[in-house]
Amino acid sequence: METFEKEMNYMKKYYGSGETKKVSWRESQLKGLRRFLIEKEEDILKALMLDLGKHQVEAFRDEAKLPQIALLSSAEIVPEPLGLVLIISSWNFPFGLSLEPLIGAVAAGNTVVLKPSELSPACSSILALGLPNFLDNKAIKVVQGGPHESQHLLQQKWDKIFFTGSARVGKIVMSAAAKHLTPVTLELGGKCPAVVDSLSSSWDLEVAVKRILVGKYGACGGQACIAIDYVLVENQYYPKLVELMKLWIKKMFGENPKDSNTIARIVNKQHLSRLKNLLADPEIKKSVVYGGSMDERNLFIEPTILLNPPLESVIMTEEIFGPLLPIITVDKIENSIKFISSRPKPLALYVFSKDKTLQNRMISETSSGSLTFNDAILQYAADSLPFGGVGESGFGMYHGKFSFDTFSSQKAVVRRSFLTDFWYRYPPWTLNKFQLLEVSYNYDYLGLLLVLLGLKTPSKRRSYFANP
Ligand code: NAD
Repeated sequence: METFEKEMNYMKKYYGSGETKKVSWRESQLKGLRRFLIEKEEDILKALMLDLGKHQVEAFRDEAKLPQIALLSSAEIVPEPLGLVLIISSWNFPFGLSLEPLIGAVAAGNTVVLKPSELSPACSSILALGLPNFLDNKAIKVVQGGPHESQHLLQQKWDKIFFTGSARVGKIVMSAAAKHLTPVTLELGGKCPAVVDSLSSSWDLEVAVKRILVGKYGACGGQACIAIDYVLVENQYYPKLVELMKLWIKKMFGENPKDSNTIARIVNKQHLSRLKNLLADPEIKKSVVYGGSMDERNLFIEPTILLNPPLESVIMTEEIFGPLLPIITVDKIENSIKFISSRPKPLALYVFSKDKTLQNRMISETSSGSLTFNDAILQYAADSLPFGGVGESGFGMYHGKFSFDTFSSQKAVVRRSFLTDFWYRYPPWTLNKFQLLEVSYNYDYLGLLLVLLGLKTPSKRRSYFANP
């Protein structure tokens, strides 16, 4: 086992080297696999005989592509609904995160139970009381409640569970689903970085700053799964960036943001004290370069910027989910690639840069649910793009047609005609039938004619019949 763990570590490092991403590597491995099947064919057929008593002709027949013996047949994919599905959603976008999956589930033809979050009770109540007046109550129901009700629902057998929320609860959902082998989609969160390259034009920088601020403080006060969690910027460039951010925070949210109604409040006292505790750490306090004040009674935290808080601190290891924005400086902007790759895979990655080389490196050398250049949040609104995470930020996807697919099974349907039927597909096996199968798998019509006329030299595979 110890050796195996070492091997696994080696394989992870090998994956990290980027070798397996090269097209040439993939091609060479697939060619190797084909060579293996060709060169080892005899051994494979013998092994199948040894283990399963399978006749070599049957083994050969079953390893090949859809053959000519299926002449006059057609194949299609028919999506079918999964059945009864459960959707559990979060409080930060209580309508979008409930209705987007509901649309997909209903469009695919499922019956649905939706459980919105107890932390946005007014919105959940509109869904619970309002939807029944518009939808078929026999097929679509809304259940209100918190963890207790949610766990009760999870004990039931569902045909699919679609969950939006934290990784902690995602694990509870997945283990409940495992009992019934129920498929799940997990829409989780994490830390979404924004990389800001040195932008030479002041117009570009100003636009980038506005988009960053809206992608943080303007996204439910930073309480959004795809809100910018922290910014990476070059050492020499950060003063310019921070100055402009301060200026635009004032322009967008007013001199006294508490009095403005343009920034969302923290959802409840628990989340406020969680954020307050993050700032209470003296090391973190020292790193605040803008903001930091709060009004606990009104669940308000001022847009706050922190410069280089310790990387091992909670603010840099856990999802912030609030209006606190750490700025991390790197010597060279290219170093941000290693920084991001060494951490859990984010749901979204934002890169503000006009440098095509950097853009391409970001695409090929980092992994995230989505990657947006020169803007933030925008990818969520594009229905033609799949929305979902990778690794720790979740799995499965939805939005637009992807929602329909998420709530459907892609049934493979084959229709075969009775008009054609070839005798050589049936046992008992003879060398002649084997030869006919061989040529028909290769769609070799001349070969077929020659075998039928008895003019084709017997294949090297004849030996299988000598010693079956
Ligand atoms: P959460 O995991 O606490 O709650 C989500 C849902 O699970 C709620 O409906 C809640 O009632 C239920 N729940 C809570 N505890 C439970 C338990 N013990 N057993 C069973 N069900 C339980 O998450 P949240 O606070 O609602 O949302 C914040 C998290 O969700 C963040 O991590 C955020 O990044 C993530 N999120 C992800 C997306 C996305 O689309 N990927 C969208 C919004 C939020």
